[in-house]
Amino acid sequence: MSNDNSTPDAKTKNSNFIHQIIDEDLKNNADLKQIVTRFPPEPNGYLHIGHAKSICLNFGTAEKYNGVCHLRFDDTNPEKESQEYIDAIKKDISWLGFQWGEEIKYTSSYFDQLHDWAVHLIQQGKAYVCDLDSEQARVFRGDFTTPGKDSPYRNRSVAENLALFAKMKAGDFAEGFCSLRAKIDMRSSNMNLRDPMLYRILNVPHHQTGDQWCIYPIYDFAHGQSDAIEGITHSICTLEFEGHRPLYEWFLDNLPVSAKPKQYEFSRLELNYTVTSKRKLKQLVDQEIVNGWDDPRMPTISGMRRRGFTASAIRKFCDMVGVTRSNGVVDVGMLESAVREDLENNAKRAMCVVDPLKITIANIDEANNLNLNLAVHPKLDMGERALPFSQTLLIEKEDFSEDTSLGRKKFKRLVIGDYVRLRGAYVIKADEVIKDAEGEVVEVVASLVPGTVGANPAPEFKPRGVIHWVSAEHAVPCELRIYDRLFVEANPDKNKEKPFTQLINPESLRVVLKAWGEPSLQIAQAEDGYQFERTGYFVADADSSSDRLVFNQTLPLRESKAK
Ligand code: ATP
Ligand code: MG
Repeated sequence: MSNDNSTPDAKTKNSNFIHQIIDEDLKNNADLKQIVTRFPPEPNGYLHIGHAKSICLNFGTAEKYNGVCHLRFDDTNPEKESQEYIDAIKKDISWLGFQWGEEIKYTSSYFDQLHDWAVHLIQQGKAYVCDLDSEQARVFRGDFTTPGKDSPYRNRSVAENLALFAKMKAGDFAEGFCSLRAKIDMRSSNMNLRDPMLYRILNVPHHQTGDQWCIYPIYDFAHGQSDAIEGITHSICTLEFEGHRPLYEWFLDNLPVSAKPKQYEFSRLELNYTVTSKRKLKQLVDQEIVNGWDDPRMPTISGMRRRGFTASAIRKFCDMVGVTRSNGVVDVGMLESAVREDLENNAKRAMCVVDPLKITIANIDEANNLNLNLAVHPKLDMGERALPFSQTLLIEKEDFSEDTSLGRKKFKRLVIGDYVRLRGAYVIKADEVIKDAEGEVVEVVASLVPGTVGANPAPEFKPRGVIHWVSAEHAVPCELRIYDRLFVEANPDKNKEKPFTQLINPESLRVVLKAWGEPSLQIAQAEDGYQFERTGYFVADADSSSDRLVFNQTLPLRESKAK
């Protein structure tokens, strides 16, 4: 098979060989006025991280060359497609920050033209109606080592084929009774050229065309021609279509199309601990292993959005993995670190106490400043947040110890008899513990060092470190949803004993029903991202209600060591 647009992998690593091709094309072809690409999802599921790569490539290429990228729904399988998926796909692309050119395209809007082109092939003696059923057709097709055999229906006359195809279209035959096939070469070493099917009978209404059709074109017969109709200059798809390219070109060579787009293939994005196939993701949804397509554990764009991954981090990641022709599995940690970097630089800061210990400030009085404020972000100018201080505070249980022998370097938190700074507030000293009947510490009585808000204390009050806190009376109750990887294995697809649906991490979702957030969180809107000091990156979820805020953990602050 010809492979004329392949580029040596060594040269293209972490770069974009498609752009090199376009640069050459622009140099050598004066007629090439505008670069036109397309992103052609089939609306049979929600988009995932793999699609994000294709979106960044197609829309990004159009942007780079001042061209346009069409969003074209490749809707030739009506029984698997739906308007819900169309709407979700549009939303995801816009959210990623891309705009399609002109109006949205649908392959189904070319059904009349495609039908006429099928008739044209029949008239040219290049297509025929075949009555082999699918099993027989499979046997006749042969395999990689066995040449195919001609169908007994291959030599029907043009007139007979035209009449039969008209009857197919009129709904005179049952589903599967016959199909329209191209007459190419049953002995071709490329299986795709062994008289591929062009149209099959499907008695299914279509989400766009309703009951108008009972025959539908096959992907291969629709794709290149749709590219030609839209004047696509560079039709970019994934490597599994490389073997389809000769067929793509055969149709364009044998039909009276007005443009001849060219197909280029790049390698699919694959990530460890992740499945990237709409069909498989749909299984997770249908079997209720996850809570819908936008479950924050899903690698769907909507799932990642709900998880708090940002569009800019996803785009950056797609940029980092580059566009090449070599297949490989990318470490999901690379995506996570792109997200962390973005959130570290841009997310609002807040404090949230997960496992609270009560602190009572014994020496508080009206002379102390209790209406504290703190910057929303330590570096960016994002304004200030109110941080009310009061007599009863909550800190993290693990941030207190009675063990006075703990070294100051080793334990930079609160120890009985010693000092610590409350973030954005006073330096305090732990004076006394109150225990319950079981001997567990339930409260710490502390005293504040006056004048230490935003100011260093005298050396004798030097704090061990800084801890996070909230004022008990002002704190807002929060539900935290803590996520871990969905799969326990790095290659959930490749396990020979168990299907990926049985390799689910039982701890992939853990719910903390009651944590205590600082009052500024009250105004959090769904998809607002935060860095909760020391607790992790979190994002507000649409499940929040006025008396219970829900936050999804986007990621822990640092990559976990256990891997
Ligand atoms: P899936 O197997 O998940 O259903 P698909 O290829 O069938 O994926 P389409 O809706 O046909 O899904 O894909 C639209 C575009 O996205 C195609 O051009 C396809 O090549 C590209 N694409 C799909 N998956 C990936 C991936 N993992 N990496 C890069 N591009 C992808
Ligand atoms: Mg597909």
